[in-house]
Amino acid sequence: MFKVITNKDGQTQEIQTSLSAHELMDNPLLNKGTAFSKEERDAFDLHGKLPIQVESLSSQLMRVYRQFQEKNDNIQKNIFLNTLHDSNTTLFYKFCSQHIDEVLPIVYTPTVGDAVEQYSSEFRRPAGIYLAYDEQKQMDMILGNIAKKQQIDFIIVTDGEAVLGIGDWGIGGMDISIGKLMVYIICAGINPANVLPVQLDVGTNNQKLLDDPMYLGARHPRITGKKYDQFIEKFVMSVKKHFPNVYLHWEDFGRDHARAILETYRDQLCTFNDDMQGTGIVATANVISAIRATQTKFTDHKVVMFGAGTAGCGIMDQILDAFIASGMTRKQALDRFYIIDRFGLVVDDMPDLPDFQKPYAKSRKELKNWNINNQENISLLEVVQNAKATILIGCSTVKGAFNKPIVTTMAQNIERPIIMPLSNPNSHCEATPEDLINWTNAKAIIAAGSPFEPVVYQGKTYQISQGNNAFIFPGLGLGAIAVKATKMSDGMIRVASETLASFSPLHQSVNNPVLPPIHDATIVSKAVAIAVAKQAIKEGLSSIKAKEADVEKLVNNAQWIPDYYPLKKQ
Ligand code: NAD
Repeated sequence: MFKVITNKDGQTQEIQTSLSAHELMDNPLLNKGTAFSKEERDAFDLHGKLPIQVESLSSQLMRVYRQFQEKNDNIQKNIFLNTLHDSNTTLFYKFCSQHIDEVLPIVYTPTVGDAVEQYSSEFRRPAGIYLAYDEQKQMDMILGNIAKKQQIDFIIVTDGEAVLGIGDWGIGGMDISIGKLMVYIICAGINPANVLPVQLDVGTNNQKLLDDPMYLGARHPRITGKKYDQFIEKFVMSVKKHFPNVYLHWEDFGRDHARAILETYRDQLCTFNDDMQGTGIVATANVISAIRATQTKFTDHKVVMFGAGTAGCGIMDQILDAFIASGMTRKQALDRFYIIDRFGLVVDDMPDLPDFQKPYAKSRKELKNWNINNQENISLLEVVQNAKATILIGCSTVKGAFNKPIVTTMAQNIERPIIMPLSNPNSHCEATPEDLINWTNAKAIIAAGSPFEPVVYQGKTYQISQGNNAFIFPGLGLGAIAVKATKMSDGMIRVASETLASFSPLHQSVNNPVLPPIHDATIVSKAVAIAVAKQAIKEGLSSIKAKEADVEKLVNNAQWIPDYYPLKKQ
């Protein structure tokens, strides 16, 4: 269909295609709309199919921005941008890269959460591929056919069971995959021609969807147990067969599935789960930055996680690694960690504890000197008071869980408490940054899960960092793809955290936000990609033989830059 011609440095010179007229304009990767040149209009039978004015990319961008601003609400903006995305890839990504701050909350969290809920009612056209449990016999053929036509470097897959903080949205999860893919492309320049979003449709347990006559997914309860595991295995085997070098990103799987899948497949191919690993990398970077900036030591800190699910325990695992890397034994580090779930502090005599919570479960012996009301349900406030917590993180989706007594106790425990209410969307957040600032006299070092407006306190404006995974997952993906990494190791994850921490504005002043502004995500992503690619090579996990000095060039060559290139007849 088309061939990209590059120079010896890997930069695109021209694109050759056999498509013409409407077929060409209907291909979003090749479409230029009003920017097709006079020569291209001659060569590709485009006269009469476009207004006579030949525009530049920059004049198209001005119009898009005006139209974007005219949309009344965020969901309309989301629909507008998705329509642009489906018609002109270059214009869409150029626009997004110029307006990252405004665009990320629209194509990704929080607005994408609304889009997911309205997936079936707002459905316009299919995007990506849908692999339904009942059609699994066709799965290998579907993936094989794609492999024959397209080079795929990157797959993002969801089963829509645990979307953001809003639960099971079945086939609507596809919008998350697409939104996340957009963030990969906007921030890191993953090539949109080589990506594939996949929805594994295993049904839904959301009765509202099952009862909705518009619902487009499979109308049956979720497939579970062995049948589910076999379906996932079939998918991974087919992916490995048809796309041997692919980077496979798992998105929004349910708590138990997410962990089991990652543990089963992380040594078999280069694979990553953002809910479990991405958030952990950002949160760890925040902890590293805050500890350094406050000139405290890791041994000065006690960490409490409220909401010990997929993200919560994934985050704790990585912060634990950072504590161990600072010189503690695993036991010494674990002694400083506390997790709280629905039944209060997780204690090792609780029945049916999931494996991933067990390392953090406290023994009754450790709590014998604690002042507690109800041994069967030890509250967050009691943990913060008794453990003298200094770092508090929320992944519970419980709005307002970090109340004033809890937060003020944190501020009594340490001069600069680190508080990260990470639950999305804002309506599920454990505390508002405004309250955290007011209740701690602006001493709390804060990162939230979603964007929040700056807070003015005693005449000073505080920017609120969004613990946005967009600082991490795009660069990890780009780095891995650039060197064709065979797996995503703990070492690659650790250097990603360190690299992000090195960009923290806290290093200039402890009153600055902990994370850089989101419009720096492209710069951070590039640095993360280079660090991750170097680490993959160092650990012998790259199928490319490259010297460390050549890694930056490999990363540059792997990046796609949104621009119009001359089109020639194939
Ligand atoms: P999850 O369902 O796996 O985990 C939520 C956990 O909270 C569960 O273990 C649940 O039992 C627990 N919980 C619920 N009510 C509770 C209560 N009253 N007290 C204590 N614990 C309670 O979901 P997840 O994937 O881990 O996501 C959790 C939240 O974190 C979501 O809002 C999600 O959007 C957010 N998150 C944010 C980021 C980010 O900021 N970048 C990334 C991933 C997830």
